[in-house]
Amino acid sequence: MPSVPTAPAAISAALAALDAGARLQAAGAMLDRLDEIADRDANRPLFESCDALLEALPRDDTRTLDRWLAGREPASRPSLYLRARLAHAAGQLTAAAGHWDALFRGTPPADANVLLLYARVLADVGRFSDAAERLRHALRCRPPYSFYPRVRTLLATYAKAGGRDACLLFHDAAGAEVIHRLGRRGKGLPARVIPVELHHMAAAGIDTWLGALAYGASDVAVLATGTEAPQYPEAIARQMGYADTIAQALGYQGRHLHLLRAADAAALEAAVWALQPALPVRAPATFHWSADKRTTAALAIEHLQAHAPTPQTVIALAAGAPFGTIAVNRDACTLCLACVGACPEGAILDHPASEVPQLRFIESKCVQCGLCEATCPEDAIALTPRLSLAAEAKQPRVLNEASILIPGDEDEEVEKFREFLDEVTPEDFKE
Ligand code: SF4
Ligand code: SF4
Repeated sequence: MPSVPTAPAAISAALAALDAGARLQAAGAMLDRLDEIADRDANRPLFESCDALLEALPRDDTRTLDRWLAGREPASRPSLYLRARLAHAAGQLTAAAGHWDALFRGTPPADANVLLLYARVLADVGRFSDAAERLRHALRCRPPYSFYPRVRTLLATYAKAGGRDACLLFHDAAGAEVIHRLGRRGKGLPARVIPVELHHMAAAGIDTWLGALAYGASDVAVLATGTEAPQYPEAIARQMGYADTIAQALGYQGRHLHLLRAADAAALEAAVWALQPALPVRAPATFHWSADKRTTAALAIEHLQAHAPTPQTVIALAAGAPFGTIAVNRDACTLCLACVGACPEGAILDHPASEVPQLRFIESKCVQCGLCEATCPEDAIALTPRLSLAAEAKQPRVLNEASILIPGDEDEEVEKFREFLDEVTPEDFKE
């Protein structure tokens, strides 16, 4: 290992790219750098680095951690944090709560993720009012770091370390336990599978998955352990279907999204070792991930389209997809403009500068929520799920507008109709 990474994402990516023997050696070197990270940074990067090590090391290798912890200042932040996480994982809840208390005595961390972990341990030992206090703190916290750059750094570092066909495995704390149990069984995760812990398994969605594919991941998996409400895996499976349809239509062969339902290490081992790499994008994206999910998804799709083996103009998607168009039946539409007010995304517009009522639509903004369809008093709107990659999808197009009656035209039309009535006979209607 020529250099020892100190950034958390770089740590887990670099370790993931190594085989089991080299991984232990590298992890030992990284453990020795934690105090430096602790000196340099306040909280989150240190805790993320600790998490990265815990994720990458098999949990039965506590000897490495114990050796390191025994030789260091017990009250140092990395020691306390690692001891708290290890004690919690081992079910030693009182000890875990004690380490957390010592870590944040008098100064609760300004980090929602850490506060949630802390609150969970406090609730587990029955200190509910303390747990509620930590939760209140967590709700007031803004995430101190962006999750997206972490995904980007992970993939870039993994590739730089020689890793290929990266598969990001998103999981929550319950998933982390199953992953660690799999590590204890010996086989662990395949080297190309990089675990990424989230506070909830559904915290990352289609924007993150497509962003990861644009940044060069071969595939993305989400681990459902059965501890979450059943609606979450169901919703994730549906969303993954849309994302996979997009990737397949663009010619990226193979399966890019996987929902792994695994409540125990044996099930996870079977699922994760059965994953096959899919075709990744030729050149990883360099765009800056936006805080707006819709923008991120659009940037990712643009990049995947730009390098697609089979670029598309329109991709048909299954019902419920968050991309699509609407059609307005002009014969039924009275241009009441109720749908304009109902659309939460500003996808339907009127035209304040126009002389006559006009209904316009920007497809790229439509999330197919169906509110316009439900609001229309004339049942004039129909939704069609699809992804338009045409440039026009970002421009307003006219769905309906009032016809302009020039004075005199109306009389002319009435006159023509009278003439028609005068000329028509019953014979004209016979077969
Ligand atoms: S589509 Fe329906 S809601 Fe929208 S303007 Fe026409 S009639 Fe009104
Ligand atoms: S489906 Fe939703 S987002 Fe799309 S135009 Fe209708 S109200 Fe707007």
